Amino acid sequence: MKQTKQPKYIFVTGGVVSSLGKGIAASSIGLLLKSRGFRVTIQKFDPYINVDPGTMNPFQHGEVYVTDDGSETDLDLGHYERFLDVTMSKLNNTTTGQVYNEVITKERRGDYLGATVQVVPHITDEIKRRMTALGDTGDYDIIITEVGGTVGDIESLPFLEAMRQLVLKIGKANALYVHLTLVPFIRSSGELKTKPTQHSVKTLLEIGVQPDILLCRSEYQLDRDVRAKIALFSNVDEDSVFEARDVPSIYEVPIVFARQHLDAAILHKLRLPLHTLSMQSWSTFVHRVNHPRTNVRIGLCGKYVQLHDAYKSITEAFIHAGAANNARVELVWIDAEDVQKHGVERYMKSLSGLLVAPGFGTRGVEGKIRAIQYVREKNIPFFGICLGMQCAVIEFARHACKLRDANSTEFNKRTQNNVIDLMEHQRGVEIKGATMRLGSYPCILKKATHSFRSYRDQFIRERHRHRFEVNNDYRAILEKKGMIMSGLSPDGNLVEMIELQHHPWFVGCQFHPELKSRATKPHPLFRSFVHAALEYQRVSGQAGHGALAGKPKNSSLNV
Ligand code: GLN
Repeated sequence: MKQTKQPKYIFVTGGVVSSLGKGIAASSIGLLLKSRGFRVTIQKFDPYINVDPGTMNPFQHGEVYVTDDGSETDLDLGHYERFLDVTMSKLNNTTTGQVYNEVITKERRGDYLGATVQVVPHITDEIKRRMTALGDTGDYDIIITEVGGTVGDIESLPFLEAMRQLVLKIGKANALYVHLTLVPFIRSSGELKTKPTQHSVKTLLEIGVQPDILLCRSEYQLDRDVRAKIALFSNVDEDSVFEARDVPSIYEVPIVFARQHLDAAILHKLRLPLHTLSMQSWSTFVHRVNHPRTNVRIGLCGKYVQLHDAYKSITEAFIHAGAANNARVELVWIDAEDVQKHGVERYMKSLSGLLVAPGFGTRGVEGKIRAIQYVREKNIPFFGICLGMQCAVIEFARHACKLRDANSTEFNKRTQNNVIDLMEHQRGVEIKGATMRLGSYPCILKKATHSFRSYRDQFIRERHRHRFEVNNDYRAILEKKGMIMSGLSPDGNLVEMIELQHHPWFVGCQFHPELKSRATKPHPLFRSFVHAALEYQRVSGQAGHGALAGKPKNSSLNV
C-alpha cells in the first residue's frame, strides 16, 4: 500500500452572482501552486441533477468537456487541464445526480438496511467520499475543489455542508476556504460597493463556514478602505482580501494573483513550504498573447455561435496556436443557418481560414456544407472537427464524386449515398446518456500528409464524442477523387482523419483535438492550421491588420 501524507484541501466557493469565473480562479491558484513545485489537481462539484452534462443543450451549459477516460464533464475541467497541463478523469467532476444515483443504488441493494436514508448523513457522506477520492490516491499534495453554483442556492447546500464536515474532520491546518465574490461599481454614486460581499460571507458564516481568503472581482482597484471594510465585516484580516480585477485575458489571472502574493498567503495558511515560483513558460505565453506580430481572420462556422462557451475549447485552442505563431487569431463567428439563408460569399470575404465546428442534428448542416465547398474550391485553409469533418466528406462526395444526394444518415435516413453512417456498435443503442463513442482512442497517421507533418508522429491518441463515421463502402470512391484517409483506427476500420490532395490545407478529424490543447502546449493541428491561414493571408495579400488595436477580447475572468 502507498504511504500517503494527509493532502491539503482548498475549497473555492462563489458568492453574489454566478459566472464570476470560479473555474479560472481555481485554475490560476492551481497553476501557481504547481509552479511552486506541488502536485496539484482540481475537482468540480456541480449541483444539478443530471448525471453529467452530456445530455444538456450547449446553449444552456456551454461545451461538454470529454476526458481521456470518456467522461462527459463540465467545461471548467477544460480550464483545469489547459492551465495546469494535467489530465483529468471522471473523478474530477461530481454532480448531485451522481451522488443520489450512488446512494439510491446502495439503498436498493440493502446497504443501509434498517436506516432512514437522509441528506445528512447519507448524501453528505457520499459527497465527502468523493471529495477525498483523489486525495486518497496519494498522487497529490493539494486538492482544489470548486463548488459549483452560488452560495445561498438551495441546491448547493449539501456540498457546502459536506465541505464543512470534512474540514472539521481533517482540521483547519489542512484546509482552506477561498471565497470568490463581486464588488460592484455603482456609477451614479461613483463607488465600489461591499454590501453584496458582506451578505455573501454572512450566508457562509450561517452554515458554519468562515472563509479564509476573499477574492474580490471588480472593475476597479480596491483601495485600502474598501479592503479594510470587507475584512472587518467578513471576519478576516486585511491581508486576506485579494483583488481579482478584470483583465483582458484569462491567462493573465495567475500573474495578477502572483503579483499580490496570493500563492504565498495560501501556502502560509496551509503550513506548506514556500518553494521558488517558476512561471517562465507561462509568462512567455502570456507575453505572446498580448504582443502578437500580426492578426489573422478565421471563420468559425457552427450553430451555437450566439453562445461562445459552446465552443470554449476551440476558442482557447486558437489563442494557444495563435501565440505559438506570434499571431492573434480573430475569430469571425458564422451562423451556419445564415449561410443557408443569405448565401456564402458575404461570410467568407476576408477570411484566411475556416473551421467547421462539431455538432449534432440537421439544423445548419447545409450551410456548413456550402461554406466548405467555397473554401475547398477557393483553396482557403479548412479545418473540420467531428461533424465538421463529416460535412466535408458529404460535400466532397456530392460535388467532387458527383454523388448528388450524399448525406449522413443522421440527417437523412433514406439517402441512397450514406457516406456518413451510424457506427456498427451504435446500432440498437437507445439510451442517450454516456452511450456515444467517448474518450481517448489511438489513431495511426499516414506518412507524407499534413496530419503526419503536424504531429511529427505516426501514432497519436485523441478524444472522441460521436455516433457516426465515414462509411467504408465509399472510401475507394472518395480516394479516387483525391481525398486521403490520413488517419485510421489501428484495425483500419474507422476513418479518423481526412485531407485533400490538391489543396494547401484541408484537414478533417473525427476526434476533438481542441480538448488537448494547452496554454503552453498548443495542439499540433491548430498550430499548423493557423500557420496555413497566415500563409494564405500572406500569399493572397489579405490585410494582416498589422497595427493591432488593443489586446485580445478574451474577456477577463468572466468565462
Ligand atoms: N453528430 C455527429 C456524430 O454523432 C458529430 C458529433 C460531434 O461533432 N461531436 O457522429
